[in-house]
Amino acid sequence: MTEQKGAAPTQYGRVMLKISGEALMGDQGFGLHPPTVERIAREVESVVALGVEVCMVIGGGNIFRGLQGSAQGMERTTADYMGMLATVMNALAMQSAIEARGLHCRVISAIRMDEVCEPYIRRRAIRHLEKKRIVIFAAGTGNPYFTTDTAATLRANEMNCEAIFKGTKVDGVYDKDPKKHADAKRYGEVSYDEVLQKHLGVMDASAIALARDNRLPIIVFSLDEPGGFRAILGGEGTYTRVQN
Ligand code: UDP
Repeated sequence: MTEQKGAAPTQYGRVMLKISGEALMGDQGFGLHPPTVERIAREVESVVALGVEVCMVIGGGNIFRGLQGSAQGMERTTADYMGMLATVMNALAMQSAIEARGLHCRVISAIRMDEVCEPYIRRRAIRHLEKKRIVIFAAGTGNPYFTTDTAATLRANEMNCEAIFKGTKVDGVYDKDPKKHADAKRYGEVSYDEVLQKHLGVMDASAIALARDNRLPIIVFSLDEPGGFRAILGGEGTYTRVQN
């Protein structure tokens, strides 16, 4: 990794990047698309080059979602554990792509699997970040009935992140679906309560409430925009900021 010339100054020291599992599947409709994983690893690299400490949580929806499994007759908690295992696969793929770029990265799992990755120990995770290693938190919260949005909010609080960056397919939060409605308006800023009341679909309600109660801003931006993550950390580009 080389420090990029003209690096935009950033106010952020430590951030959480949350992406859904679907962000890794490219146009395939399922699973992992290695060039897409590599592209996201480059986005992360460009932010690390600014000196920012990066935590990541990646969902598992490109492989398995507990709700889908239970809808097909599977016992819900078992299906949720399968979903959590899917997030570990995604985390390992991302770790591999990040390490291929010469960066240091650790996958930390909420469910012990010592041969595969480290268990979650808060102080150890913080130490990794202080040493400028990218830390990917896998297996969600380790509990069924939760989502990786809640896991991202939980870990962001525990790691003292200054904000959660939620990378999506659109460049912020809209009052209606911008893909269906030409007159949809993007919010520059919106409160947690408005997100909850209007069901704006930023994250699930428990994640929003956890962020609100701990005054953790959520920044929704497009991960499809090359250089978008880095630009937003430098205060540029379009995004929506969720805060009080
Ligand atoms: N999951 C869970 N507990 C957690 C996090 C995730 O049970 O703390 C399960 C749940 O079944 C979920 C799946 O893992 O459907 C994948 O996570 P998520 O749906 O958040 O992935 P994303 O939509 O972000 O790809």
